Amino acid sequence: MDAKQLLKQHGFRATSHRCEVLNYFIKSNQALTHAQLEQKIKSKIDRVSLYRMLHCFYENNFLAKIIDSNNNTSYIFNQQIENTDKATFPLFKCKTCHTVIQLPQLPENYLKSLQSKNIDKLQILAEGTCENCIKKK
Ligand SMILES: [Zn+2]
Repeated sequence: MDAKQLLKQHGFRATSHRCEVLNYFIKSNQALTHAQLEQKIKSKIDRVSLYRMLHCFYENNFLAKIIDSNNNTSYIFNQQIENTDKATFPLFKCKTCHTVIQLPQLPENYLKSLQSKNIDKLQILAEGTCENCIKKK
């Protein structure tokens, strides 16, 4: 998946900054906080612009937002953006390496039961230790 294509598909101008940030999320499976992202990207994007961009990507379901048990907010690419306009998949975060993966979608009958509530964001975050980190122990 390519950021430029994705942005255009969803009616956004594919500016170089937007492409760089979104591509970073697409290629990485790590959830990143605003501060972490600032260190990773090469272009100088000021804090406020970056904050606005993240918020915009989140509002438009390019990114999912994660608030972990330490109250840290991070973002991860929403791999299911092509399949659904609502981010309703559970996530798993490894407390050791901070990798975040998307767990399988919730059962259809469960999602149906949410429809009458007009939920547009659902956060289920499982925290624990991933297979790789278990092996290293
Ligand atoms: Zn891990």
